[in-house]
Amino acid sequence: MLGEGILKGLAETAKNFAGSFVDKERLTTVEYPEQKLELPEASRNFPFLVYDGPEWQAGLRCVACQICEKECPPKCIYIEKSKDKKPDFVGKLQIYPAKFDIDISVCMSCQICVEVCPFDAIKMDKEYELSTDDRFGGLLLDRQQLAKSNEYYHKIHPTEASEVDGRLAEEKAKAEAKAKAAAAAPPKPAAPAPAAAATPASAAPKAAPAAGSTKTEVPPPAPPKEGEAR
Ligand code: SF4
Ligand code: SF4
Repeated sequence: MLGEGILKGLAETAKNFAGSFVDKERLTTVEYPEQKLELPEASRNFPFLVYDGPEWQAGLRCVACQICEKECPPKCIYIEKSKDKKPDFVGKLQIYPAKFDIDISVCMSCQICVEVCPFDAIKMDKEYELSTDDRFGGLLLDRQQLAKSNEYYHKIHPTEASEVDGRLAEEKAKAEAKAKAAAAAPPKPAAPAPAAAATPASAAPKAAPAAGSTKTEVPPPAPPKEGEAR
């Protein structure tokens, strides 16, 4: 029948239009920004720095090793090392970043910085409402803007954050056990004085000739053969 396809299409549209008022599955439109979709746990946007405890400066896990800075493909991480040290999560004195900036207008969200960090100090955020009218400085985030608590990390990536916590707790327990064992160990005896080095045979002085024998003994000349002129 002529126009049958058009009628079928209109019927489908009418069904969806009417159904969107009663069926949640058909409510495909989200009224952003009043409404927001829940992002999946594995979603990622730009990096942030994790800190432990209540104070971001004291708790930053980053030790300014600069591996992420070297590995970042578009080179959008800038780090300056501190001159002094502060204890890290296992109590070991470490340097920290006096400056840590990420230019998120350049960042391509590749997550390589996260993969290479040996200290679980940098992770990917889900924050996407970052637009600004400051074209130059607005998207250059400093360490204070980048610092976010471990609780925040648990909120956005609960599975991953729990795994990291377990690993860090294990490392901390190992470090504490090692320190305890080192403290309980008896003091080492003083090292003995170094023995006189043996003189190598090649370097030994040659034996002096016996007293009175100053000449070298020369064998007597061979007797002349027959026919030879004497
Ligand atoms: S996510 Fe990629 S581009 Fe962005 S800072 Fe990390 S390494 Fe650099
Ligand atoms: S974030 Fe990690 S890799 Fe980057 S400087 Fe800090 S400790 Fe090193």
